[in-house]
Amino acid sequence: MIIFAGRSNVGKSTLIFRLTGKKVKRGKRPGVTRKPVEVNWRNRKVVDLPGFGFMSGLPREVQERIKDEIVAFIEENAEEIELAVLVVDGKSAPEIIERWEKRGEIPIDVEFYSFLRELGIPTIVAVNKVDKVRNLERTLNFLAEKFGIPLEEARDVLVPVSAKFGQNIEELKRRIEKALREPQGRGGC
Ligand code: GDP
Repeated sequence: MIIFAGRSNVGKSTLIFRLTGKKVKRGKRPGVTRKPVEVNWRNRKVVDLPGFGFMSGLPREVQERIKDEIVAFIEENAEEIELAVLVVDGKSAPEIIERWEKRGEIPIDVEFYSFLRELGIPTIVAVNKVDKVRNLERTLNFLAEKFGIPLEEARDVLVPVSAKFGQNIEELKRRIEKALREPQGRGGC
């Protein structure tokens, strides 16, 4: 099983469609809890988890409930999950991360990344919407630092893409295939 996780609106469904050719798009009416959506791709389950974090019109307690459900889903399926693709919006993630840190909070994307790593789930971070990013190098370095990814691993973990314009999708596919072939991070310290 491969899971896709990320904040709402980062382009997760667009990216899954680009990669698999399968539509996972669903209604986004605020207040409706979005359940994980599963598609089959190359004999594997690909699960699109509900978007977490702020979504306009969604009360805080509903956001919290969605987050708890995502965490529960991942914990319950940890054994079966071969790979997680954490999708972030390359344009807005740095600003959001800084804002959270200034408030003394752990940014939700950073929290999710360490949660996945703690469970020993190999994780790729797809940095989406790079068509809107002005200084990609700086963005990638910033994200590597905030996610606590050592520089020598950053090239393997962070994959810049544009789901909308199809940029670097083949590279992301290759990284996914490589991660599935050579699972890392399982049973580590
Ligand atoms: P989700 O909520 O994470 O599933 O996000 P969607 O796939 O529905 O995309 C949210 C919005 O971002 C849509 O308007 C997409 O067209 C747009 N979007 C997705 N990927 C990209 C991208 O790579 N670049 C740009 N500029 N927009 C994108």
